[in-house]
Amino acid sequence: MSDPHELKVLNPATEEVVATVPAAGAPDVDAAVARAARVQPKWAALPPADRARLLRRFADTVDGHIEELARLEVREAGHTIGSARWEAGNARDLLLYAAGGAERLLGSQIPVPGGWNVTFREPLGVIGVIAPWNFPMPIAAWGCFPALAAGDAVVLKPAETTPLTALRLAELALEAGLPEHLFQVLPGHGRTAGRALVDHPDIAKIVFTGSTSTGREVMERCARLVKPVTLELGGKSPNVVFADADLEAALDPCSFLDNAGQDCCARTRVLVQEPVYEQAREFLAGALASVVVGDPADEKTGMGPLISRAQLDRVRSYVPGDAPALRGAAPDGPGFWFPPTVLTGERPDSRAAREEIFGPVALLLPFTDEEDAVRLANDTPYGLSGSVWTRDLGRALRVSQAVRAGNLSVNSHSSVRYWTPFGGFKQSGLGRELGPDALAAFTETKNVFISTEGPAQ
Ligand code: NAD
Repeated sequence: MSDPHELKVLNPATEEVVATVPAAGAPDVDAAVARAARVQPKWAALPPADRARLLRRFADTVDGHIEELARLEVREAGHTIGSARWEAGNARDLLLYAAGGAERLLGSQIPVPGGWNVTFREPLGVIGVIAPWNFPMPIAAWGCFPALAAGDAVVLKPAETTPLTALRLAELALEAGLPEHLFQVLPGHGRTAGRALVDHPDIAKIVFTGSTSTGREVMERCARLVKPVTLELGGKSPNVVFADADLEAALDPCSFLDNAGQDCCARTRVLVQEPVYEQAREFLAGALASVVVGDPADEKTGMGPLISRAQLDRVRSYVPGDAPALRGAAPDGPGFWFPPTVLTGERPDSRAAREEIFGPVALLLPFTDEEDAVRLANDTPYGLSGSVWTRDLGRALRVSQAVRAGNLSVNSHSSVRYWTPFGGFKQSGLGRELGPDALAAFTETKNVFISTEGPAQ
């Protein structure tokens, strides 16, 4: 039996214990929120340029620890070292971007009769951020750093399996000179620490990233307190490949194997137009065979392990041994390994075609024409991401407009850039993170009317 008062962090590539961390309970959440509530008004009262300067200093401190943070991410999450470096760099870049926002948090002046009308963007107070294990560092950053820039304090609960980079980021914040208790990290279990954060009356907003089922519960609990919530949830994103596309670029297996497929934006439904379906199958068979799966700390590795035994069992349940599929290789022995896989015999309504597998498993489906492609692309309760590949610009635009998803790329597999808004349609979420409006999501708008007609006599 595992101890509910501690979290054992395992290296998913070896199953060795990397660290044991105390698990916060509801009283720890209460104490952290009280501390944050004391420091937040002073932080909000600082001149915006001073807040920005401190956040830039925090970015510099992160920059000086990129390699250390990346190595920690490799050990606790099994990410390949190249990806982990990108992730630490993403946290640094977002800090710099958000710092600029602190100095540009503009209100408006609205013409009205009888006086002047101005709006202000005021910080909400203490924000609760609940993060998943799949991209522990960037996702924590997307929730926390724009909130800090807007003048809020933050209590972050990282996932049970991956608390270490978040804890290190909080230490670096202090080292950079951010006020004590402004950015606190409380590792803990979802049902205790997570729920306590959601239910806390002094948490002004919850930013939750995780599964759609937990997100639904978080939203219900927030509703009881009329608490605002941002939800970044699951995905089952299409990769729509027309016959005129650059097939090799369109079928790049990284589009569904990045982070061993544990990516909410993974293009796991590969929709290929009929005339090039066989060619696509052959290309993918070769591409999967050449993916190097192994030690994530090795620079040459293309794909690492899954996060945990539970995740490995879940992924296996979607891929019976006799399922028609293209398969790559994976190591034997300790670690949570699953080979890169493309299922080729699924119907669009099968369990594997509709549910988020969250592993290195995609499926290949043929389509006839543009209308059929859009119908298949939209045939899911999710709407997070997707790609459209064609040389016909008009078709690219029509399909991008018709696919109901928050983040689409044409002739590219990019999804997340900190300059642009990110979030899901349908059951992939609610609200947006990142982009030019990221700070606004952590503020209330206050409207003030100033009469120019003097006090009534
Ligand atoms: P999860 O829902 O199990 O857990 C996410 C977080 O919520 C963890 O910190 C967990 O401890 C906490 N939690 C669990 N139960 C809770 C409760 N009752 N109350 C409050 N907090 C609770 O998800 P996961 O397995 O860690 O992450 C994988 C999921 O996250 C996938 O579905 C993936 O698609 C999704 N995800 C979405 C995005 C996005 O931006 N849309 C990004 C990454 C991951």
